[in-house]
Amino acid sequence: MNKKKGLNLNDVREANRLSVLRLLATNKMMSRAELARHTGLTKMTLSNLIQDMIAENLVSESEQLPDDYQTGRKPVLLMISPHSPCILGVLIRRDVLTTIVSDLTGNIIYKSIAEYPLTLNNDTLEILISEQYSLALQHTSRPVFGTGISSIGPLDENKGVLLHPPEFGDVYHFNAVEVIAKLTQAPVLLINDANAAALAEKLYGIGKGCINYIYVHLMNGIGAGLVLNGKIHTGNVGQSGEIGHTSINFEGPVCSCGNRGCLDYYTNIHNLRKRVATLVELNPASRLVQLETPTLADIIDATHEQDPLAVQVLDEFCRFLTWSLTNALSLIDSDFIIIGYEKSVPGCFIEETLMANINNAPGFNENRQVSIVHSSFGANAPLVGAIAVIGEYIFSGQIKLTTE
Ligand SMILES: [Zn+2]
Repeated sequence: MNKKKGLNLNDVREANRLSVLRLLATNKMMSRAELARHTGLTKMTLSNLIQDMIAENLVSESEQLPDDYQTGRKPVLLMISPHSPCILGVLIRRDVLTTIVSDLTGNIIYKSIAEYPLTLNNDTLEILISEQYSLALQHTSRPVFGTGISSIGPLDENKGVLLHPPEFGDVYHFNAVEVIAKLTQAPVLLINDANAAALAEKLYGIGKGCINYIYVHLMNGIGAGLVLNGKIHTGNVGQSGEIGHTSINFEGPVCSCGNRGCLDYYTNIHNLRKRVATLVELNPASRLVQLETPTLADIIDATHEQDPLAVQVLDEFCRFLTWSLTNALSLIDSDFIIIGYEKSVPGCFIEETLMANINNAPGFNENRQVSIVHSSFGANAPLVGAIAVIGEYIFSGQIKLTTE
């Protein structure tokens, strides 16, 4: 054996174990034959691996029959053990703090949602996170693989710090990783919410099997997560995907970031409300007239009743977004976009409008067909992403399977 370079037998074994674990975590249940087919391992090797993983409480045999089971010998299905170590996730949004406990499959076993104190600063945020995290720990007796924190930005992911999130009290240079590391021995990672959402789709959702795509997160502003060559692209410190602050009009008005004609300037919720207010006189029967501060979800909802005001405002919104997304798709050479939202929204008005705009744009390569789909997780993608970031580290061997 070559002991100086390359993989030794233990490394190979560990890599095989991680492949099996990833397959079971992302497919929920598989037979030994399916695992052998996907991993290329011999029956004997696989059987030994599984035996050890069952003994370690990582994997267990399921009593359940597969959906397509008809008659004949009952196949034994394997799954992630209900006693396997868990992952904790924390989602820091502007309105609430969510804390969850999940297993490796992304299945949430505990969830708490807490409101922020009226005076929000580094000290009060630390108290709230510590309380919520300790409560979550009390709700599970399982060992912990790690904790993912998915958060509004801007962040320095390497240092674990929320830098200066706008409209988020007086929170400034807040080290979220340090706060949680006081309460657990297991690894703690911080990730931007849009990147987390992109990762959730890649591991557990509709991005499974896609090599290059953009996850666009529509909230009060617009963020994006990029998956490139099958990996999340976070940039130098975790600030990639700021598609909202790329310009679509270099002679346009000055944006809050100082740049001119940013996508965010035209598409943020304040501008959408301004457009609604401007166009109300022409559409006095619109249901949006009744709403003092319509949300993006309200406007999307109104398009399902063919509300002309809602349709016009969202058509404009999609036209702005089309410019940015066409550029971004060309830049990374991809034909796939996932759209996620901060709140659950019905239907696919935005996805369908964008898809028609981009695919019918003059100059767009007619051999290409761009697909734009709604997130698999509704508004929960950034939350599931807090789990997915730890999952990815486990499956890639960056977090060890030992949990003592
Ligand atoms: Zn800007």
